[in-house]
Amino acid sequence: MSFCKRFNIPETATEALIQFIKLLLIEIGGSNFEEFPGSLYLARNVLGLKDQYHNFAACPKCHKLYNKKEVEEFQQNGNLTVMKCSHVKFPNLTSRRLKQCQTPLAERSTLLYGRIKI
Ligand SMILES: [Zn+2]
Repeated sequence: MSFCKRFNIPETATEALIQFIKLLLIEIGGSNFEEFPGSLYLARNVLGLKDQYHNFAACPKCHKLYNKKEVEEFQQNGNLTVMKCSHVKFPNLTSRRLKQCQTPLAERSTLLYGRIKI
């Protein structure tokens, strides 16, 4: 069983989505949107997303997104620790207790010499 899961949309899907959005914008707004990036490469450049695209870790249960670096470097009392999901699904207002998701976001891998593996 693995707790590791990454939020990773295939690039071909992202590319198709960007092209579709461009067509849609031009259809609605005409030439105003000719400048909209028509490829994933251009979109990354325009939006400055170059290195941020794959730097997310998702909770395997509720799919809340976390910064991958934050999960990898999570510490408790100075020790590297597996971070747990803090997502609160439906706060139960009557009991006044917030139930967190608490799903481990990574697994401790001995192969990586104590480093946290996502
Ligand atoms: Zn969760």
